[in-house]
Amino acid sequence: MNKRSKTIVWIVVTVVLVALVGVLISEILGAATQVSFTKFESLLFEEGKIQELYLDGFNWTGYTLDANGNVIAKYAAVGPEMYSMADYLAYIGQFENLPAISVNIEFADPNAGSVWSSLTPILGVVLVSVMFWLIMRSAAGGGNASMSINKQKAHVQNNLKVRFSDVAGAEEEKEELAEVVEFLKSPKKFAALGARIPSGVLLVGPPGTGKTLFAKAVAGEAGVPFFSVSGSDFVEMYVGVGAKRVRDLFDMAKKNQPCIIFIDEIDAVGRRRGAGLGGGHDEREQTLNQILVQMDGFEANEGIIVMAATNREDILDPALLRPGRFDRRINVNLPDVKGREQILKVHARNKPMSPDVNFKTVARITAGFSGAELANLLNEAAILAARAGKKTIGNLELYDGINKVLMGPQKKSRVVTESDKRCTAYHEAGHAVLACLCKHCDPVHEVSIIPRGRAAGYTMTRPETDDNDVSYNKLIDNICMSLGGRVAEELVIQDITTGASADLQHVSDIARRMVTQWGMSEKLGLVAYDSDQPVFMGMEYGNQSRGGYSQETAAAIDSEIRRLVSEAHTRATKLLKANRSIMDNMSRVLVEKETIYTEEVAMLMKGADYKEVIAFMEEKEGTHRDNPFATMTTPSKEHVVEEEKPTETENKDE
Ligand code: ADP
Ligand code: MG
Ligand code: ZN
Repeated sequence: MNKRSKTIVWIVVTVVLVALVGVLISEILGAATQVSFTKFESLLFEEGKIQELYLDGFNWTGYTLDANGNVIAKYAAVGPEMYSMADYLAYIGQFENLPAISVNIEFADPNAGSVWSSLTPILGVVLVSVMFWLIMRSAAGGGNASMSINKQKAHVQNNLKVRFSDVAGAEEEKEELAEVVEFLKSPKKFAALGARIPSGVLLVGPPGTGKTLFAKAVAGEAGVPFFSVSGSDFVEMYVGVGAKRVRDLFDMAKKNQPCIIFIDEIDAVGRRRGAGLGGGHDEREQTLNQILVQMDGFEANEGIIVMAATNREDILDPALLRPGRFDRRINVNLPDVKGREQILKVHARNKPMSPDVNFKTVARITAGFSGAELANLLNEAAILAARAGKKTIGNLELYDGINKVLMGPQKKSRVVTESDKRCTAYHEAGHAVLACLCKHCDPVHEVSIIPRGRAAGYTMTRPETDDNDVSYNKLIDNICMSLGGRVAEELVIQDITTGASADLQHVSDIARRMVTQWGMSEKLGLVAYDSDQPVFMGMEYGNQSRGGYSQETAAAIDSEIRRLVSEAHTRATKLLKANRSIMDNMSRVLVEKETIYTEEVAMLMKGADYKEVIAFMEEKEGTHRDNPFATMTTPSKEHVVEEEKPTETENKDE
């Protein structure tokens, strides 16, 4: 449809709607009895009380008619959320079995109801569906203000099945939210005692930690409707539309109390005002202002709780956090070992797991995974098991699932030339050997030259514990290990490739933070020069000395970073030169076998010849990888550490 015909459709639809609305308003004066959707369905399907049905987005209205077609009762309910037209059609298809009912979508004339019902209901359904579909289509294309709020963006869900038991490993958060649930269940009880309940709850945490899940669980536990909208939905709009949407959303919520309004990614609209680079932000500000106005407009203890989620609390407008607005803040963090185990168990509930799977082990090596990543890992494992024609999900699939979540799927089919292969093998062997030699690096679980994601190969190390605090030594070792790939290329290929760019990025990142944030450089002292946040447009723009320090300090920072990296480079070169034969053997095994695991790495580090290792692998072929976790429990730091001769610089630093 081109723009012009779209406009014409719009004009026609608008004229028709205006006419219909006029008639509708004059006709419907009796107040509706608000019922739950379950009750509504039972009136409709079981009790046969409804002869005329009006669907307006998710506002459902039903009429009981007497023999003469006069209205004797009116019921209203909030309908189920429909994600697609197909769902919608499938749902209203049920009405075919109820010939006594006429179905009207969008503001239709009640008088026409009798005409409708004389037609075959199926024809009626088809006609109104087509009209509905047209409206949806033009609304999607044109983004018209008045239509899109209920048709497109805000979703309402009734009878959510999510419960607190579906959210694993977050007991404190659940406790804090239990109060909100209580309130939603019986707002009057709290009002009678004059208790002030927060009107806004802000969930703060990294992506995938279950913020949305939590909000849904609150609605599910309390059995109230869940209105959700994403902050980013407001932003793409024309001026004035965002604010209107907010108003519509709150109006709709007020009609359906008690309920929850959930604003996801609130940072998209809730950014500090006045941070814009001149113009272009008015729309966002208007939307934000409207949210503030609406939240202030609540009568005390109205049965509405506004929940919002963000992972960037620091950029929110302070006005949002004031009392009466989002004055309750709940931090949702990445799960710890125990939390991960529980999350895995929750998501394994409906999956057949092999009896030898130990979630403790899986939880242990998935430090840093979010709830969403853990759910994803189980899903990947299930897919792998299904593809392999297995009946249950075993350790092998879980292990591969972890890799897939961490690094993207393997790309076995990518064509790799022999010389590329050799180069990658040395690069990865460089990383792996250094990871084993440096005392503070995490144990190596897998080294591979099979491309994954954007990397040509990978060396997988996983922490043994959930240590969140990283020490100076650990960081230094990490930098050294990350340079291993590049150093190996320098030593062996005597040329350097572009393969190390991600490594170098990582290295300078750590070094910069050591100097500017963690006070780990004597020269610059215990001063935080940078904040943790990436600079976002507007907030710090135009502020000449960005972090608030001088040109000289900036130069000193740069030279300190360079010193850290070049010292690590010297150390890595020394270590790899001293252990050249290990690296040679490892890369030969890699070229031959592509992927090696803990055991092989350990053999090689103890000085095993590549032939010996390849023979070992061939002997074990097939049985070797049934439980990749089994070999991981052996601490892998026992070998060759003493070969590491401390360099002068290290003595000075430590
Ligand atoms: P967020 O909104 O914080 O980005 P979501 O709530 O969308 O995260 O989480 C995405 C998915 O991850 C959820 O649907 C759920 O399957 C899983 N998940 C996240 N955290 C948990 C948890 N604590 N317990 C169980 N599942 C979780
Ligand atoms: Mg979310
Ligand atoms: Zn690398």
